[in-house]
Amino acid sequence: MHITQLFGRKKAVYSFEIFPPKPTADIAGISQAVERLSRLGPDYISVTCSAGGSGNSRTAEIAKLVRACGIEPLAHVTCINSTKDEVRATLEELNADGIQNVLALRGDRVEGKQKDDFSYASELVSFIKETGLPFDIGGACYPECHPECADILTDIRNLKKKVDAGVTHLNTQLFFDNEDFFRFRDMLSLAGIDVPVQAGIMPLVKKSHVDRIISLSGAKIPAKISRMISRFYEKPDALMEAGIAYATDQIIDLLSAGADGIHLYVMNNAYVAERITENVTNILKEINGQN
Ligand code: FAD
Repeated sequence: MHITQLFGRKKAVYSFEIFPPKPTADIAGISQAVERLSRLGPDYISVTCSAGGSGNSRTAEIAKLVRACGIEPLAHVTCINSTKDEVRATLEELNADGIQNVLALRGDRVEGKQKDDFSYASELVSFIKETGLPFDIGGACYPECHPECADILTDIRNLKKKVDAGVTHLNTQLFFDNEDFFRFRDMLSLAGIDVPVQAGIMPLVKKSHVDRIISLSGAKIPAKISRMISRFYEKPDALMEAGIAYATDQIIDLLSAGADGIHLYVMNNAYVAERITENVTNILKEINGQN
């Protein structure tokens, strides 16, 4: 099923994001995680891909696993470090595996790996359309502005090009202050971008996440999160509980404000997804008229 159809049917779409294991790693761990996640009944599960070279390596394999568990997969595809032939091969493999949804991404620049065929995700979107393969195409967006872009208005103008090229729904970068999302949503509407936008929520539940997310994402850290981190950084159980509570609170506020959906960055941690889903499942059911 095309994910766009889900937005037509539901007031709030709820999904998870996972990443594939390393090329040499055993499949058992991720298989178990996918099974547990699928029991939570998300609308879809997205599978990231590596941006290095033609490295969409295990994305198709894991997307197939998701599909085998009865959940719609969304496969991420990057382009900046790949040739058109490499991207075409990835798309053909996904299509042959019955994957119907892709998230078209530029990918992060990797020193010495960049090829000349693509500069922006919008070019990948046009390329996917040209192949004639029947994918529904999602794209990424940034409530706090993409880090390489000078200002948010320019970033939104560029986003409009991506949507006009054929993106039918958007997933946001993680953010911790919902006001940034609400402001962004208003700006998209003024810019004539009317595709559904799912809010990307990353539960900060482990010391290792805290270190990585804060250094890599560039997301603004509200005072409430700073207090949580400084108090519980060395207390794993407390950080887990506080991180789940913060993410739950963020999600409930977003749903209260009529967000089109929530995309939970679960980092392959089924336990965290279970806890948060338990907290929000009745709200989602009532919003979507399933009670
Ligand atoms: P683009 O939409 O191309 O935008 C990149 C920059 O170029 C922006 O600054 C934009 O303003 C600018 N720009 C766009 N079009 C133009 C134009 N025509 N002229 C001038 N400037 C322009 N990375 C991975 O490697 N693997 C993943 O699986 C992955 N999944 C992700 C999922 C989500 C939901 C998000 C938000 C990000 C993900 N990323 C992933 C990271 C992403 O690849 C990086 O953020 C990357 O730097 C930008 O990708 P993009 O698709 O948003 O690029």
